[in-house]
Amino acid sequence: MPLGEDALHRFGQPYAVTHRADIHGAFLRACQSSSLVSLENGRHVKSYEDHGGHVDVVLGDGERAEGRALLGCDGMWSTIRARVVGDGKPRVSGHIAYRAVLKRADVPDDLWRPDVVLWAGPRTHFVHYPLRRGELYNLVAVFHSDHYEEGWNAEGSKELLWQHFAAQRPEVLRLLERIETWRMWVLCDREPVKVWTKGRVVLLGDAAHPMLQYLAQGACMATEDAVVLAECVAREPNDLPKAFLAYQNARYLRTARVQIMARVYGEFYHARGPTAELRDQMLAARSKEDAQNSIAWLYDGP
Ligand SMILES: Cc1cc2nc3c(=O)[nH]c(=O)nc-3n(C[C@H](O)[C@H](O)[C@H](O)COP(=O)(O)OP(=O)(O)OC[C@H]3O[C@@H](n4cnc5c(N)ncnc54)[C@H](O)[C@@H]3O)c2cc1C
Repeated sequence: MPLGEDALHRFGQPYAVTHRADIHGAFLRACQSSSLVSLENGRHVKSYEDHGGHVDVVLGDGERAEGRALLGCDGMWSTIRARVVGDGKPRVSGHIAYRAVLKRADVPDDLWRPDVVLWAGPRTHFVHYPLRRGELYNLVAVFHSDHYEEGWNAEGSKELLWQHFAAQRPEVLRLLERIETWRMWVLCDREPVKVWTKGRVVLLGDAAHPMLQYLAQGACMATEDAVVLAECVAREPNDLPKAFLAYQNARYLRTARVQIMARVYGEFYHARGPTAELRDQMLAARSKEDAQNSIAWLYDGP
């Protein structure tokens, strides 16, 4: 799919990829420079009580904090969701992601590409793209496996990776060989749900709609949530339960579509045999416009 000027022209916004720490840093600096935000690290929320007019949270050390409302943006394994939705643990997809970042100097010149590149293989795929104006090269390798470790960001075994990628193309293997240490994620998601709020408590981001990463949209959807939530609260500053319902209703179908389509794209990338041949035929027959139209439901915005 052509990006660059083509994407800007078609969607009105540039297509961009960003280092996780860079976007996090931008949000952090914005919070630090606002007199309305107080940041407290290492505070574990154990439970909450909604008293109608205000919400109390109970922290890990037994301390309590009071506020007008509670936004549960506590991720895939959300404690707050357990009370608002109560649908148990996330679904383990059986797919594992390994991630690493190389310095530009460590990427052979003939393998360096200023694009987002995805190598699709049977039950695997491999993605790379430059970050920070080309100073870094981000690598993500995904494969099917029953291996399971709860949580995230563990160190990934190289042997396990090679078992799945050994038959891949030489370009992929040459890049994989350059990585000393991989971080590993066991990928999970959930079925979409329609109810994200109860009284003065509301969910946002992965707590509301955890998704597989195949459309690279989890953090994007969390950010859109925040914008829409802020708009809804600005419209109903004196009725937060109403504002939260308006936000939920504005967001749940769009994010449900991304949750569902992320699974479909995962199957598409990892296809084998005749399914893979059909995929390749379909993609080869697409024009630039077809490619853009196929993703317009997402990139045209909420
Ligand atoms: C391999 C992989 C690749 C990805 N690639 C992309 C991508 O390219 N583009 C994209 O947009 N998204 C991507 N994502 C998804 C993205 O990382 C998530 O969707 C995003 O981080 C969700 O943000 P969040 O703030 O909702 O949750 P999180 O980032 O999970 O943050 C939740 C926070 O809550 C804290 N917390 C949890 N429980 C408690 C508690 N009880 N008390 C206090 N604090 C608590 C956690 O410590 C954490 O800091 C990817 C994810 C994975 C796994």
